[in-house]
Parts: sequence; structure tokens; C-alpha cells
Amino acid sequence: MTLPIINNLNDLRAGLLPWREAGQTVALVPTMGALHRGHIALVDEARRIANRVIVSIFVNPLQFAPHEDFSAYPRQIEEDHKLLAAAGCDMVYSPAPEAMYGAGFSTSVVPGDLANRLEGEHRPGHFTGVATVVVKLLLQALPDFALFGEKDYQQMMVIRQVVRDLDLPVSVLAVPTVRDTDGLALSSRNAYLSVEERHQATLLPRTLAMVAEALGRGQIAQPILQEARQTLTSAGFRIDYIELVDAQTLVPADETTARRRLVAAVWLGKTRLIDNMEIL
Ligand code: AMP
Repeated sequence: MTLPIINNLNDLRAGLLPWREAGQTVALVPTMGALHRGHIALVDEARRIANRVIVSIFVNPLQFAPHEDFSAYPRQIEEDHKLLAAAGCDMVYSPAPEAMYGAGFSTSVVPGDLANRLEGEHRPGHFTGVATVVVKLLLQALPDFALFGEKDYQQMMVIRQVVRDLDLPVSVLAVPTVRDTDGLALSSRNAYLSVEERHQATLLPRTLAMVAEALGRGQIAQPILQEARQTLTSAGFRIDYIELVDAQTLVPADETTARRRLVAAVWLGKTRLIDNMEIL
């Protein structure tokens, strides 16, 4: 059977109806397209837990600041469609921006404190854009499950909070980060890297893994974080942040914090890379 691509809300609801009538469960995987194995890991997990899987592909203008890469963001719906068909997805939902945000659209979902740190500090308004579109997608599709990647750890935590606060009837599930064989977390934005930058980029996960390992052995955080910043800066990275945070609240953590996450955002040339690791 061919994989349907739906691009408006009426068709989405019409497509969902027979599944719901048959008592089937539905999982939604929200994406911005330019799909890679990281996204497919979300689809695989979705298939494992639900009868039906919808993948949304929507490059959300609300979550990009005017100077950011909204127009340059890679769009490759045909390749995405092939990948999703092979992965066993049941429906692709790819609304046009005008369909998502009709004339006069003026409502936002503004997440609280969790969204103001880290990415929120460097990308003001970003998580308002993310939360607004994710809440819309969840209300449009009303899935039983929604899957997000740990690659965007803060995003996943913000969405959990929004879903809890607004009593949205969905279970949010997190999927571990999928990495290339050299350790770099897969990302649609890796396509921006030149061949040379792509080689250099592996220093980010290598450095984070060393820091995570040292912190796991109980070493004092600040000197190690400072050394990591120095290593990356010397290699030509520009650092937005490399921080150790409480895995739940995302406030700065130290040796005494129970559950910790190492989070980083850096620039390599014109490409912004984010990554994070659990401290075991
Ligand atoms: P994006 O298309 O970049 O907005 O990502 C869509 C979803 O895929 C988000 O929940 C991401 O966290 C997740 N994702 C992106 N890259 C990866 C990866 N390398 N491993 C796991 N999940 C990922």
C-alpha cells in the first residue's frame, strides 16, 4: 500500500477515523523532515508501542528567529517519504504553513522556567514556537503516544511539562540519541557542515563523553567543564554553553545532584550543533 501524505486537518481527521473506530492506538512522531536514522529510531519505537504511526513533517516558522535558518532548512519530502514508507509509517502529515497558521493566528503556548534556560537563553522565543506547534499537532491528531528524541533533551522536557500542565491526553516518550559511527549525533543540520567541519565536529561528542565519564567517576564539575570549553574553543568551536544541569529541572548541578545531564550547544562555522549526555 502506498503511504499517504496528508496536508490538511480535515484529511488528517478523516484518515484517523477508521483506525479509531477499529480501536487502534496511534503514535505521533513530530519532525521537521530531512529525515535520518535518528528520526527512524523514533518511528521504530512508535511502531513497537502503537498500532498506527503518523509522522508529521513541518518546518515550523514560529520556532525560528528572523536571523535563523528557516529558509535554508533542508526540505526533501520525496526522500523522506521513501524512508518513511520503508520504516512502516502509516501516514505522513505535512501541512502547509498557511494551513497551520491561518490569517489572524495569534495564540501562543508559552512554557515556563524550563524553557528559559540553555536553548531558551540563546534562542529567545524558540520554545514558545515549539510548544505552540506541538500542542496544535497533539490536538489535531489526538495520538495516544508522542515520541521525541533525547537529542533535543530540553525540548523533550519542556514538552513533558506542557503536556502535564495542560492535561493533554497523550503519553510522551523519549528515545535515546542516535549517533553516527564516529559519535556525532545525527541531525538534519549536519548537512550544513563542510567535509572538513564534519571531521572536526566529532570533537564535540568525544569531549562530552570524556567529561561525562570523569563526572561519573565523581570528579569536581567546574574545572572539567572549563577544560572542555577550552579544548573546543582552541579547536575553533564557538561555545553557546556547555553545562552540567539537574536532569529534571535543568538548573545548574554539581557533584551532589542526584540525576545530572551534560548539555552543550556550540557553533562550528555557520552550523549550530547541540548534544547532551546522561551522567551515569
Ligand atoms: P527535528 O526534525 O530535528 O525537529 O527532530 C524531530 C524529532 O527527532 C525530535 O524529537 C528530535 O529530538 C528527534 N531527533 C533528531 N535527531 C535525533 C537523533 N540523532 N537521535 C534521536 N532522535 C533524534
